[in-house]
Amino acid sequence: MRIWRWFPIVLVVPLLTAAEKAAPAPARITDAEARMRRDITFLASDQCEGRGPGTRGIDKAADYIADQFKKAGLKPAGADGSYFQPFTINANVLDEPARLALTGTQGQTIALKQGVQFWPMALGGSGSDKAPVVFAGYGISSNKAKYDDYADVDVANKVVVLLRGAPRGGQSDRNRELMKGAPFVEKIANAEKHEAAAILFVNDADTARDGDGLLDFNYTAFTRSVGSIPVFHVRRSVLETMLPGGADTLTMLEKDINREMKPHSRELPDWTVNVSVRMHHGKIDAKNIVGVVEGAGPLADETVVVGAHYDHLGFGGNGSLSVSRKMAIHHGADDNASGTTTMMELARRFAAMKDRQGRRLVFIAFSGEELGLFGSEHYCKHPLYPLEETASMFNLDMVGRLRTDKASGKAKLLSEGCGTAKPFRALLDKLGDKYDFKMVNKPSGFGPSDHASFCGKEVPVLFLWTDYHDDYHRPSDTSDKINVAGMRRIADLSQEAITTLARMDKPEYVKVKGDSPLKYEGPTLGLLIDYGYQGEGVMLKGVREGRPAAEAGLQADDCIISINNKPINSVQTYMTVMAGHRKSDTIEVGIIRDGKKKTVKVKLE
Ligand SMILES: [Zn+2]
Repeated sequence: MRIWRWFPIVLVVPLLTAAEKAAPAPARITDAEARMRRDITFLASDQCEGRGPGTRGIDKAADYIADQFKKAGLKPAGADGSYFQPFTINANVLDEPARLALTGTQGQTIALKQGVQFWPMALGGSGSDKAPVVFAGYGISSNKAKYDDYADVDVANKVVVLLRGAPRGGQSDRNRELMKGAPFVEKIANAEKHEAAAILFVNDADTARDGDGLLDFNYTAFTRSVGSIPVFHVRRSVLETMLPGGADTLTMLEKDINREMKPHSRELPDWTVNVSVRMHHGKIDAKNIVGVVEGAGPLADETVVVGAHYDHLGFGGNGSLSVSRKMAIHHGADDNASGTTTMMELARRFAAMKDRQGRRLVFIAFSGEELGLFGSEHYCKHPLYPLEETASMFNLDMVGRLRTDKASGKAKLLSEGCGTAKPFRALLDKLGDKYDFKMVNKPSGFGPSDHASFCGKEVPVLFLWTDYHDDYHRPSDTSDKINVAGMRRIADLSQEAITTLARMDKPEYVKVKGDSPLKYEGPTLGLLIDYGYQGEGVMLKGVREGRPAAEAGLQADDCIISINNKPINSVQTYMTVMAGHRKSDTIEVGIIRDGKKKTVKVKLE
């Protein structure tokens, strides 16, 4: 089917209007919204598995986007005549399926199946061992709470089986103290301190209430491994097999621990466990999707990039703000199926125009954004069209929750980057008026999305979005909550913005005062910053494998409050202060961890 059949109105627009003064030229509203609803519903569906790099779901999403580009008539700009620009992301990778087997006293062996009864966890290390088993409760030792699951058992060179979570039957102060020992990383460190040979984690009764789900390897593949011993997540049935009395005994043990607030650790003398995990710090494959609409006339050799990231958090993992401790599809409808959908709609509209005057439009769906802007950084290092001749970059990330601004009664649209080129502010003012948005404009071009990579290369950028919400980075960011009509309105404004960007005199890049173009060229710590954090300082949602912050022991939930005694109250000041440092400097990073101030030395690279 030829795509232009869908766009009767768009096709006549260039004939009716002068380029810059063009009236809004949306396709028939119902058609555009129907297409956008279809796209976002697919991208945010269970089929796409939350579009986490390394999942099969993200490949389905990539094929879908490439297919839409093809149907719209975009020229493929990727490798080997395809729409794909491949790259890799550092991650922990399994060399082979891990092995886990239980052997009973009579020599009977139960070989368990990876993905069915267990998954190895990337938080642990490689190794193989055959060892006796000890059930060590929640695996928590806390002086303050006067509680130690390891007090009465010797786990040296043995496999420990641990419940997730923490005992909850005490007073709130005591429970809070015990919760500090609940994160996987704390339990792994504690087990290693007690010289355990390996760890098998099981869901506690609460986590398993509606289904005893496993966290698969990819859930932790992008986090720094903290342990050196093999670590597994196993089904409760595995522990039940080894406990005399089975499921009833496990239920009783948990109840007793919680009621008495006393450990009930015990050896499981009838069993030995064989474990084997082989993994390494490797790479996983990812890809950007790139489709081109050529322009015509004297500016046709120059480029405007229109981008939106299509990856999201998959089943959760490090970037998740989900309160449950389960694997769940993080649908990422707003973040960023909405931007991807809007970008595809724009691609269709521009591809359907005949002899469009102006610059080439390069439409890119980026991957690896949530893990650290990897896709856009890769494009900027290996641009398919020269960056010197890339006049501007237009980015859409989270445009699906258009809401009314109470004061003005208008729909509120946020922009960033208007300070990166002189004409941008006036352009946004004009478009905001014309399309009836309350615009909130931020000059900086270094916000937390892919345009920052281009800004770092001194390409002027514009970024549109519709603000954070309670479903941000949670499984509940679903397509039924998307304001599709609002998204279509943003597409209409974007169409005119991009038309202008494609035809205006090449804008000169302006460095915004206080903004740091060094961010991606100067030293970086390898932080995963929680941009949704509202308080003082820079909150970490994680650190990147093998980078300085990870080496120095920084971790998720640390809040950076100073660097070399200079107070850091926001991401902006963090970037400004970091820009003043050089690679190979050692800096003192002040953090708050678990409510306590701490200083960590970090060697930059
Ligand atoms: Zn996000």
